[in-house]
Amino acid sequence: MSFFNIYVERENMDFYQPILCSFCGKYGRYEAYIEYHVLRFFCIPLFIVKKKFFAVSTCCNNVYLIKNREKGFMIKRKQGHNVFLLEKDLELLTENDCHGTEAAL
Ligand SMILES: [Zn+2]
Repeated sequence: MSFFNIYVERENMDFYQPILCSFCGKYGRYEAYIEYHVLRFFCIPLFIVKKKFFAVSTCCNNVYLIKNREKGFMIKRKQGHNVFLLEKDLELLTENDCHGTEAAL
């Protein structure tokens, strides 16, 4: 048994980007959060081993990894108003089925 463990912590970032969603065709926005993987010894946080930035579209709740880490760090430094996320900065991780309920009818 290891006394070390990895703990995942999520922190919402102050970010708001209006979009015309390429998935559902509606107007929505991207919001962003950061995920830390923290190495702990028992329950004592030691250091952050990994930092990842994510964006979520509010219209269809798709989750994107922000591949452009420079933009992620800018949002983190509260310079999100200078950041415009492009499709090439993002990698779609989970695709929500917007039409699930309609299809079930
Ligand atoms: Zn959408």
